[in-house]
This record gives sequence, C-alpha cells and structure tokens, in this order.
Amino acid sequence: MKNIAVIGGGISGVSIAYFLDRLASAKSKKMSIDIIEKQSEFARDKIGKFEYKQEIYDSGWHNSITDAGILYQVMIELGLYRYLIKSKKVYKLIYTKDGIKSLPERMLYTYPLDKFELMQSGIFSVKEKLSIFLKLHKNKNLKYINRLTVEDYFKSTLNSNVYKKIVEPVLTSHYGSDVSKQSIKLLMPELAEIQNGSDLENKIRKLYDDDLKDNIVRSNEYKLRFTLRSFLENLESYFSNRVFIRFDNKVEKLERREDKYVITIDGRDYFYDYIIVSVKHREFLPWFQDDIRLQRYYKGLKYVDNLVVIFILNKNSLQVNPEIGEIIFDKEVDTYTTKLEYVSNKWIDIKSRNIHMLRAYVNRQDKVRDLLKKTDEEIINIIHSELFTIHENLEIEKALVTRAERNYIYADIKYSRYMRELDRYFKKKYGNIYFIGHSKKAINLEETIIEAREAAKEIIEQM
Ligand SMILES: Cc1cc2nc3c(=O)[nH]c(=O)nc-3n(C[C@H](O)[C@H](O)[C@H](O)COP(=O)(O)OP(=O)(O)OC[C@H]3O[C@@H](n4cnc5c(N)ncnc54)[C@H](O)[C@@H]3O)c2cc1C
Repeated sequence: MKNIAVIGGGISGVSIAYFLDRLASAKSKKMSIDIIEKQSEFARDKIGKFEYKQEIYDSGWHNSITDAGILYQVMIELGLYRYLIKSKKVYKLIYTKDGIKSLPERMLYTYPLDKFELMQSGIFSVKEKLSIFLKLHKNKNLKYINRLTVEDYFKSTLNSNVYKKIVEPVLTSHYGSDVSKQSIKLLMPELAEIQNGSDLENKIRKLYDDDLKDNIVRSNEYKLRFTLRSFLENLESYFSNRVFIRFDNKVEKLERREDKYVITIDGRDYFYDYIIVSVKHREFLPWFQDDIRLQRYYKGLKYVDNLVVIFILNKNSLQVNPEIGEIIFDKEVDTYTTKLEYVSNKWIDIKSRNIHMLRAYVNRQDKVRDLLKKTDEEIINIIHSELFTIHENLEIEKALVTRAERNYIYADIKYSRYMRELDRYFKKKYGNIYFIGHSKKAINLEETIIEAREAAKEIIEQM
C-alpha cells in the first residue's frame, strides 16, 4: 500500500488525484491519496470570486475548448458530452492604428498561410506589401532550433513586418505573455521533436499540409455549459474511497526521513511514499532551505506578471458582432491591453442573461508593471477609456481587477535549459517528489491537465 500526498487542491491537484485514482483501479495498484489544501475549498482563489445580481461567476475563465485537446477527452470520459455546445466559428481581430482588421483565416503558428488574403488585408500599407512580397520566403535552414527564440525563428522564416504586426501580437495573446525572447521549442510542442537542423523544412510542410490553425489542429470549438467550479466538482464526484480531501490544511514543512517523506501540518507529522507538489515555488522553496542548488535555480528565473480586468456590461451598451471572440492589439499601437475577450460569446450561462462579460488580459510586461503600481480604480479607468476607442457608448456596470504578480515563469532560452536540468535534478535527488502545475509554469487549463495525467502515468508505472 502506497501513500500519496497531493499538496495543493487547484486544477493540477484535483486532476492528478483523478488520474491516479482511475489508473490505480485499472492497474490494480493499492494506494491512498490525500489532497492537502490550505483553503476551505478547491481552487478558491480562482473561482467564486465575483458576484453579480446574486449570481456567482468564475472570474472570467475561458469557457471553451476544442475537440482536438485532452480536456475534451476528459469531458467525454466524465460523461459530460451534453454540457458541450458546438459553437459557431469565432474570429480573432487585430486592432491597428487604422482600426479593427480581420486576421487571415488560415494560420500556422500565426504564420498566415494564405498569402493572397494577407496581401488583400488592410493590415499593411502598399509599401509594406511590396516589401513583404519581395521578402516573404526566406531560407528555412534553421540549424540550431534548440537555441532559437520565437523572434529568431520567425524572422528567419518570414518578413519582419509580418512578424511584428501579426505573429508577435497573436502569439503574445495566445500565451499570455511577451513571447519574443521565449524559446520556440518550448512554446511549440510540435517543434520539440525536431533536433538540430534535422528535416525542419519537411516537418513544417507536413504541419502545413495537416492544416494547423493558430497552433490548433483543425478542430471544432465547444462552449461549456458549466464553470470551473462545476468541472472540479465533477472530477471530485468520481473519486473512489482511496482519495481523501483535507481542506484547511496548510503544509508547513516537507522532509525526507529514510525511505519516506514527512509532511508537517499544524505541528503534526504525516508519512508518505510519494509527494506531488502543485503549489507555487514561493510556497515550497522554504521546505528545501538546505538545498542551495535548488534555491539557486529559482533565483535565476524571470517571472511573468499578469493583470486581468473583467467588465460586466448591459447587453445594449456593447454593439459587437456575436461571432467575434477576441481583439488583439498590434504591438505598434501604444495601448495597455493586448487582448480583449468577449467572454460572453463563450459563456452560455451569461448569454442567456441580459449582460455582456468582457475580459481584458494585460500581458505585455512593461504595461503590466506600470499598471500594477496603480489602484484598482485607476486601472479600471485606464482600460475603460481605452475600450472607448473601440466601443463608443460603453457603460460599465461592474469591474473586477485580478492582479497576478509573478504569475508564472518566463520561458526564455535559459528557462528551457534550466527546466531540463531541474527535472533531472529533482528526479535524482528527490526521487518520489513530482513537481507539476503552478510549481512550474501552469499556463492554462489544458496544459495543466495534460501535465497532471503524464505525472500520474509515470507514478503508476514506477510502483
Ligand atoms: C487571473 C488569471 C486568469 C486565468 N485565466 C485562465 C483562463 O481563462 N483559462 C485557462 O485555461 N487558464 C487560466 N489561468 C491559468 C490557470 O489559473 C492555471 O493554469 C491553473 O490555475 C494552475 O492550477 P494549479 O492547480 O497548478 O495551481 P493553483 O491554482 O495555484 O493551485 C494551487 C493550490 O495550492 C494551495 N496551496 C498553496 N500553498 C499551500 C500549502 N502550503 N499547503 C496546502 N495547500 C497550498 C492553494 O490554495 C491552491 O488552491 C489564469 C490564471 C490567472 C492568475
């Protein structure tokens, strides 16, 4: 019988417990799983944050998924198909100095696939179009893909105007932080298999032929009929009696004693064979105070700050085409937000009421840092006045600011090297401790769940 402690009851903690529990049944493994959460409910800081007219909403979560992803599979496994509503196509728009423009429809890693559409678009001036036309295809002989940043990669494959005006803003909006100096291989998992200089041209051609759209393989988009809260509740309802939930339990210390790990909660010790850490590094680093090397790893990393503002509007005050999903700002437009999402288009519950919900996701680091120094009221006013430039007659009913300082680790080239080293180091030094989710990057729901599933598989195979 193995005892497993999952530290943290966020999406990572709840999903790894779910996968471990299922795999244990399938493979007849004997185990007991404790989810240890310091708050009084799962993912408390992510859900139930905002109330509007007696209703409680998740604070602006993306409530849409595609049938190409793992989240969709999990939904099917949970028998939740009836809660998925196939949506109409939702478009992304780009806000340039000359107003709102449509993005080319066919994209590969935000690289516009349809050159004709690109030339027809109003995103570029005639002069720029000529220069694009002359320089669009550059040599793709990329020998050292391991060491390339996103900017290096795209600038060596296409015209820098296209990079600056389309690729960079769209990628930044997709990944929630400035991407230029981040590692291309870390951001694009499809490129991860490509070794130094090997057959890059053919790989890319294959991806092109498979018609990847904006990093997502051709797929249908679904809206969810429920929120993050009910998703977690559903996972919980599948737990067998080998899973124990311990709310209001804050882990104070973690140490190794012979072949066990000891967790200290409220001065009492508990013994485990495996530990899963899903809490932020700030929380767990004090548990490893004597490990100079580990402390040094984290000191050397850079972090991404984010700021999210949710606006609730009366439906009549926002005239927006229901098919529009997201407005992205051109990097050259000096504005604070880089992404505006019309969340209500993705949120079936809200659509039925008489409100619109809009989410401004601020992710360009210089802008976020500026805003973080201001009060909530000042932030709301700044973004509100910016919204006016796009939507006149906008009347905000309610606004909520979420400050996510040092939200996650910035994936630059150094980070990807560090993370590979750190993984090896963790495995060697702390065999049965697994670091997932917010202990590392935890960008979004889908990636968080994939990571939890992979870690669960590894643990079960090891037992
Ligand atoms: C403002 C904001 C908006 C976002 N919007 C989206 C979105 O729209 N779509 C999307 O896919 N992703 C979104 N994300 C990203 C998403 O929140 C993360 O991917 C996800 O929350 C990571 O989950 P996690 O379980 O790894 O970490 P967390 O959610 O941080 O969970 C860690 C848990 O551990 C607990 N804990 C901490 N310390 C201890 C301790 N010592 N002992 C016991 N328990 C402890 C905490 O209370 C917490 O519940 C957003 C993030 C932010 C900040």
